[in-house]
Amino acid sequence: MNPLRWTVPAASCALLAAASWSPARQDPALTTHAVAGSVHYIEGPGGNIGICIGDDGVLVIDDKFAQLAEQIDSAIDGLSEKPLRFLLNTHWHGDHTGANAYFGEQGVPILAHDNVRARLAGDEGVVGNKGEDTPAAALPLLTYDEGITLHLNGERIDVMYFGPGHTDGDSIVIFNGSNVVHMGDLYFNGMFPFIDLDSGGTSQGFTEVVGAIAESLEEGVTIIPGHGPISDLATLKTYRAMLVRAHELVAGALAEGKTAEEMVAANLLKDYEDWSWRAVTTERFIETIVKSTGAK
Ligand SMILES: [Zn+2]
Repeated sequence: MNPLRWTVPAASCALLAAASWSPARQDPALTTHAVAGSVHYIEGPGGNIGICIGDDGVLVIDDKFAQLAEQIDSAIDGLSEKPLRFLLNTHWHGDHTGANAYFGEQGVPILAHDNVRARLAGDEGVVGNKGEDTPAAALPLLTYDEGITLHLNGERIDVMYFGPGHTDGDSIVIFNGSNVVHMGDLYFNGMFPFIDLDSGGTSQGFTEVVGAIAESLEEGVTIIPGHGPISDLATLKTYRAMLVRAHELVAGALAEGKTAEEMVAANLLKDYEDWSWRAVTTERFIETIVKSTGAK
């Protein structure tokens, strides 16, 4: 397989994961952690995988890279002997959908938002994988617009779409019985988020969606982010406050006629330097917000 395949998605979150892991390395060090109730997560290169286990079988949320498919499968086997019932993609990026073909070929139904399938299939008019590069088995079989509910392993699992944010097809998954939420790439815990404007994401939408989610959750919830360590509600609210303040600062600077370059030079987000990281530096985050407003 062309190794570019998994760095391509808009130099996105795939970039950061690819940067931290060479495919030549033999042991990619996937680590499995219990979260709460029926939910576990698998840490390692690429997006965090959520796993729900129980009497009915296994629900998998996201699947990192194709090169990790067998290791992911082994990690799931270590949690449950029950069959894989469903695989859900929180969005289309290659570090969350890379092993779709592996699981799809085993007959595991893949679920995702309508726009995830469109981008994976390379439908007319969307940025995404070229259709001929995506095997049919890797495409979601079941798609939805506003959301879908699963009744599995003794709990109600709500999959919800809040509107454009990281992309135009971001789902969050709420495990009501276990009191766990997988937020996909709407949540980069402790880091400036990557916002994929080329895939229908918007930084204002991103901030509003994160705010709506933070307001809807109650104390005691455990949150699996797309990237970074698991989180409580207070930590999510700190992230949301950073997003809101960064947007206020950029809006204020735009109102004064400043360019993104001038905002960077003036160290506009100096209070948030700790959130900068190699894939989304302070400079890139400011540029994304400015570009998302439509300013030059
Ligand atoms: Zn992503």
